[in-house]
Amino acid sequence: MTQVPPRVAIAGGGLAGMAAAAALGSAGFEVDLYEARSFLGGRAASYPLPNSGEAIDNCQHILLGCCTNLRDFYARLGVEGKVRFDRTYYFLEPGGRRSQLRAAALPAPFHFLGSFIRLRFLSASDKLAVARALLAILRERNGRTDLDQITMLEWLKEKKQPPRAIDRFWRQILVSAVNEELDRMAACHGFQVFWLGFLTGSRNSEMGVPAVPLGELYCLEAWKRLPQVRLHFRTPVEQIVVRDGRASVVVAGAPQEADFVISALPLDKLRQVAPLLPLSELDCSPITGIHLWFDRPVTDLPHATLLDRTVQWFFNRAGGRYLLLVVSASRSLLELSRAEIIELAIRELAEFLPAVRQASLERAHVVKEVRATFSASPQAESLRARPETLARNLFLAGDWTRTGWPATMEGAVRSGYLAAEAVARAAGCPHRFLLPDPI
Ligand SMILES: Cc1cc2nc3c(=O)[nH]c(=O)nc-3n(C[C@H](O)[C@H](O)[C@H](O)COP(=O)(O)OP(=O)(O)OC[C@H]3O[C@@H](n4cnc5c(N)ncnc54)[C@H](O)[C@@H]3O)c2cc1C
Repeated sequence: MTQVPPRVAIAGGGLAGMAAAAALGSAGFEVDLYEARSFLGGRAASYPLPNSGEAIDNCQHILLGCCTNLRDFYARLGVEGKVRFDRTYYFLEPGGRRSQLRAAALPAPFHFLGSFIRLRFLSASDKLAVARALLAILRERNGRTDLDQITMLEWLKEKKQPPRAIDRFWRQILVSAVNEELDRMAACHGFQVFWLGFLTGSRNSEMGVPAVPLGELYCLEAWKRLPQVRLHFRTPVEQIVVRDGRASVVVAGAPQEADFVISALPLDKLRQVAPLLPLSELDCSPITGIHLWFDRPVTDLPHATLLDRTVQWFFNRAGGRYLLLVVSASRSLLELSRAEIIELAIRELAEFLPAVRQASLERAHVVKEVRATFSASPQAESLRARPETLARNLFLAGDWTRTGWPATMEGAVRSGYLAAEAVARAAGCPHRFLLPDPI
């Protein structure tokens, strides 16, 4: 590195921008991160509720043990201990019958074998069919070249999966993980979830749930470890201009001094501030979060996935009284009012948790994120942008860029690390930030 550290301007303080800032800041770069809002985190953030002031997450965010780069980012901020990992997945059928999928001490891919055989919501023939398809994932993962061109549903039909196995196993796990329906999801993403999350290292499948509101993971105290990173809140980047092949960010009407620029903006925002950049359009997929506060505990489970209904998950946020329900790829809810969504959520929840029928609802809050993530379809993969652009000092990050991952916190952090690596290369001091998959 030269004596005067290179300066990097980063637009956007979501996970992609924060990860790029943390990586470059720890490698000796001077970083200015510009965030339009008064807090960090973007789509993985918490904010105070208008009437109570209580901090809630926009929606439940979970990670898997295999999210190595996200965990590395948390470690850079010293907050990795604030995520709790759980080995058990609970499945509930309407009526309340429970099944558990729990990783045992056996080596992968056999660590789920015992609990998989005991699942009560699939028949023996369903389980045999699923096992055959899981083995096919191991076999076909490296050999097939069409997995980013076909949908996961096409692949499952090719493998003759029975309708109940598709609905209760494949759809139940994948729609939440990838935020897309099976008939719109590129098969490569379904493969990756099962291969990396469930068929390799036995700790890869552990479910990480932040034990604090998301905003606490990136609080100002944590950033004190990285003094080279300056955070500018309520400071929207108005334009990214390119002159003579060099980019700069315009803030409050003035171009800012920087050797390199990283855009970590969502695609639609980047199009607004840099309309001349050649960028492909990507479709979006919505997520709806439903926060319910009851007057008494309605469950003793920490979380569970709910079979055969609209609501896919609940997370127990406080002693069984405050539940956060999640519906991924929630197109069917977009036309419903908030009151209708709450009514549907309570009705469905009561089918799984009988205690809901006796409980009174004290408060409810619905978060409809219409543009929650890009749609991880077969068409999307080739349209996702690489970090490098036509301007030699401008690099792109964001969950929508080409990371190989669907739009997730891990994907966003990967994109930030990849953009940071591209900056380091361009500055003449190559650096490796991206960690390999834990296999
Ligand atoms: C409801 C919901 C639930 C989710 N659940 C999960 C989950 O359980 N697990 C998981 O892994 N992923 C989940 N995701 C996906 C995950 O949140 C995203 O993939 C990830 O946070 C995206 O990060 P990002 O940095 O790419 O973009 P963003 O988080 O969108 O960050 C972009 C930032 O840029 C800022 N910005 C915009 N315009 C400007 C401007 N002009 N100047 C400066 N700043 C600007 C925004 O305010 C924002 O802070 C979920 C997403 C949603 C919406």
